[in-house]
Formats: sequence, structure tokens, C-alpha cells
Amino acid sequence: MTAHLAPRLTSPEPGWTIEADVIVVGSGIAGLSTAMHARRAGHRVLLVTKAKVDEGSTRWAQGGIAAALADDDSPAEHLADTMVAGAGLCDPDAVRVLAYEGPAAVRRLVSWGAALDVDDAGALSLTREGGHHRNRIAHAGGDATGVEISRALVQAVALDDQIELIEHALVLDLLVDDRGSAQGLTLHVMGEGQRDGVGAALAPVVVLATGGIGQVFAASTNPTVATGDGLALGLRAGAEVADIEFVQFHPTVLWLGSASRGQQPLISEALRGEGAVLLDDSGERFLVPQHPMAELAPRDVVAKAIMRRMRETNRPHVWLDARSFDEQTWQRRFPNILESCRLHDIDPATDLIPVVPAQHYVSGGLLTDVNGRTSIGGLFAVGECACTGVHGANRLASNSLLEGLVFADRIGALLAGGLPPRRDPLPRTTESTLIDPGARDRVQQLMTGNVGVLRTAESMQVAADGISDALRQYSDEPHTAAWETTNVAMVAQVLTTAADLREETRGSHWREDFPDVDDENWRVRIVSRRAHDSSVAISRRKVPR
Ligand SMILES: Cc1cc2nc3c(=O)[nH]c(=O)nc-3n(C[C@H](O)[C@H](O)[C@H](O)COP(=O)(O)OP(=O)(O)OC[C@H]3O[C@@H](n4cnc5c(N)ncnc54)[C@H](O)[C@@H]3O)c2cc1C
Repeated sequence: MTAHLAPRLTSPEPGWTIEADVIVVGSGIAGLSTAMHARRAGHRVLLVTKAKVDEGSTRWAQGGIAAALADDDSPAEHLADTMVAGAGLCDPDAVRVLAYEGPAAVRRLVSWGAALDVDDAGALSLTREGGHHRNRIAHAGGDATGVEISRALVQAVALDDQIELIEHALVLDLLVDDRGSAQGLTLHVMGEGQRDGVGAALAPVVVLATGGIGQVFAASTNPTVATGDGLALGLRAGAEVADIEFVQFHPTVLWLGSASRGQQPLISEALRGEGAVLLDDSGERFLVPQHPMAELAPRDVVAKAIMRRMRETNRPHVWLDARSFDEQTWQRRFPNILESCRLHDIDPATDLIPVVPAQHYVSGGLLTDVNGRTSIGGLFAVGECACTGVHGANRLASNSLLEGLVFADRIGALLAGGLPPRRDPLPRTTESTLIDPGARDRVQQLMTGNVGVLRTAESMQVAADGISDALRQYSDEPHTAAWETTNVAMVAQVLTTAADLREETRGSHWREDFPDVDDENWRVRIVSRRAHDSSVAISRRKVPR
């Protein structure tokens, strides 16, 4: 598969300029905490975010945040559990940073005002999730962890008048100096007065904290802002991207019809934990013969079984039967899910719930070292858009919020040592591209249908051909939908190429045509980068042991 990436998006010349010491892009847990740390290091911070400040995956996080905080737990055990989940592709140095620096990072989050749940003795209340051998998941408001973390960090940032926040600011491309180092970026602000339309934000440090890629797929648990912008921006600028083929799919989101796109309501596995079962159209519990734990098998196994059964029966979804729950169980344990169902005219007390797997989390991203540095000078990445190496081939539950916190802290520590020199950015290159927003739906369908839970060389060829066609549907009208569509298509193309190349099944990457782990050939990281001729250069890199 050949890929071609233009060096920038088509956009008007910047009409206004703003300067700072550090620019942070994105206002989820990763961006907000990076902004806090950069301020503590004494820098003037510009925080830009493409919608309202609390929009992003962070506020949707339910389960919690993992860290070895219990007396009977240790960072060494958290490290061991994370390495097992990562299926041979974790970077041990990065996992060590995550596990050993995690407890202090969570305590700092509390000191910034996040009210995590505590027990009667006032100690953090810790629960357990799949893959963890200890109780180490801190949470807030029961299943409203993300809402509370977002609230506390937004408030902390708002209290600091040296952090300037611009909302509705869609970042487009990186600006670099004659040494190829970051010196700012271009952005489009839906504002008024002086900062309206496309402008330039200048700083010798740019931190991308743009979150996930959910909207690259037709159905996702991620909010609409998750269009992979940071990843696409980094790729266009020549930064390295790794592990992008490792995408987690949540087995059960509410099926809202074949035409439904974007963020879909999550139907938590806690329902299956309470006894709900999965049925096909004929009423058969199809997971029972497939795994000893049936509906409580690991997420990947359940998602795969659902997809196979949907294919066999040629149906767009399967069913979740939770009719055995009484009203009290719904009201006490699952009020949000009950509300989601009722909003869509489903009464789960009497009706079966139509469910389908959907994209949930991407383990890879812009490749960084343990201090958040990408392969471009002055350009950092943190949170879900980064690939620090902590997740390897599969993320351990509740490690993603922690990753954002811990590596933001690391970036802050580095910035406390001083900033790189400020230089004038080079004029923008003339070569640019823009894709017609009409192509987005097709790309999303191709990705879900062919590069989703189940992948084969054949299915990925179908996706690659379709995405190449989409990338030729040019637009000459620069606006948000076209910029986002171009990012979605670029990420889809690079992801598909990497997934096709990896001829094995490992972690969250399932190949129907290569069902086994192949350590001899594939215990490597696939790294993609835009070459000078705009082709995508792909290399295999050994994973440190
Ligand atoms: C339903 C759901 C449940 C989850 N549950 C958990 C859980 O229990 N525990 C856990 O650890 N993880 C969980 N996750 C994953 C976790 O929430 C995310 O990985 C994490 O919040 C990502 O944080 P972030 O700061 O990197 O990105 P986000 O919180 O997604 O923030 C990204 C930010 O970047 C901005 N942005 C994007 N593009 C641009 C652009 N071009 N210009 C300007 N701004 C831009 C967005 O507007 C947003 O502000 C869950 C995710 C979902 C969707």
C-alpha cells in the first residue's frame, strides 16, 4: 500500500499573531495538567482547544485512574500487570515511569482539587478492573471520574491569569524554523475582533494533547472532537508515529441504526458483571461455547465473537439481555445507562438492548521519549495522542488517564530547565491539500467495516483503495469540516498501512489471516513518518526489553 501525505492543510495566510513561551493544544487531562506544570516552571502558557474547554474524552471516563496507592500494592506490581497487558510491546522504561511516578501524580491531582471517592476512614477508595491484580483504581462520583477530573483541572487553570485559554481554536499545522524545530502553529479561531479566522501562535515549545482518533471510525465511544488532528499534524510535519494499529474496541455500545455516526452511548461491561447476557437474533447465547467465562471473557474476545456472529447472521448488531435486573438495580447501579436507553425508546426492563462493538481507544500515537519529546525539536506530545510505549499492544484498564498525568509532569520538569531558543518560523510551504468533507462518511465506514475488530489482508486492501479514492476528492473551501476530514483520512491511511503490514495477531490487533503471535518477526514497533517526497516511510524498530 502506498501512502502520500501533503506537508500542510490548505488554509488562508494567517491574519493575526499571538506569542507565548509554551503552547498547549487540547484541554483534556493531558493538556490541562501540562499547562499547570508549564506555569509552575514559570512560563507564559497559551492553551488552545477546538471546542469548549471541557470537551474531549477525559470528561467521559467512567471507571477511574490506576495507581499503586494501596498498602498491599506496589509500583512493581502495577508495572508487571501493565507489561502483561501490552503483550510484549511495552517499553519497560516508560512503564516504570508510569507505575513509579503514578501515585504522586494522583496525589497531586487531588491537591489541585479533584474530589476522588474516599472510604469511611478518609482514604482513597480503590477498586479493581480487568488485568489488575490489586485494588488500584481511584474513581470519583462512582462512575463519573472524568467529569470530576475535568472540572477540577479546568477550575485550577482558570485561576491562573498567566495561562491564556482560547476556546473554539482549531489547530491546523506546525510552524518550524530553519533547523526544523517547532516555533508555533497555525490555527483557526471562531472568534471575533482581532482573533478571528486563521492566525499564527508563536512559541519555541508546542505540546500536542489532542486526544484520540475515534471519529476515524463510523462508531466510537469518543466525542466528536476526536478526529486525530494532533496525529495528522505531527505526521505532516514529519514526526514519527508508532503502534497506531493497536486500537481497542469496546464490545458493547448502544446500536442506534446503521446510519448513526460519531459518539455512541457506552453500555458498560458492568451490566454483564451483574448477569446480563449476549444473544444473537435467534436468542442463542453465542459466547457460551466460545470461552469459559462466556460474556465476561476479555473485551477483545467478546468484541471479536460479536463481530463474527453479526457476519454469520448478516445482522447489524446483537442483543444484550438485562431484563432480569429489577428497577432498584437499574436506578442504583446503572442510572446513566437506563437514561440513555430510555432516551432512545428502549426500556431495558422489558426490551432487549441492541449492541455493537465500537472504537474506544488508540494505544499508539506520536512517538515520544519518557519526557514527552517527539522526533521534532520543541514538539512534545502527551496523553492519548502520544505513544510513550506504556501501552504496547494493549492498554491496561484505567492506565490512560494516568499516562496523561504522569507524562505532563515529566514535560513540566523538562521545561523547568529552560526553553529552546526562539527563532523566526519559515514561510509556509506552497504544497498543501484539503479533502472534501463528503468523503468522511465513506472513510469511517471503510475503517469500521475493514480495519475494525477483525482484519484481513483482503479487507484492508478494500479499505486502502477506498481511502486512496477519498484522498483524491479535493476541496478548495478551507473550513473546519474539510480540515477535520483531511485529518481523519490521513490517520485512516497510515493506520491501515501499519495494520496491513503487521501479519500477526497481538494485543488488540486481530488478524483473521494471521491468528498467532509471531515474536520472531513482529516483536517490533511499526514507525511511520512522512518522507521529504511526501511518501510515508515505514520502519520496524526493536522494542527495548
Ligand atoms: C467513554 C469513555 C470512557 C473511558 N473510561 C476511561 C477510564 O475509566 N479510565 C481511563 O484511564 N481512561 C478512560 N478512557 C480513556 C480516557 O478518557 C482518554 O484516553 C483520556 O481522557 C485522554 O485524555 P487526553 O487529555 O489525551 O485527550 P482528551 O481528553 O480527549 O482531550 C483532547 C483535547 O484536544 C482538543 N483538540 C483536539 N484536536 C484539536 C485541534 N485540532 N485543535 C485544538 N484542540 C484540539 C479537544 O478539543 C480536547 O480538548 C475512556 C474514554 C472514553 C471515551
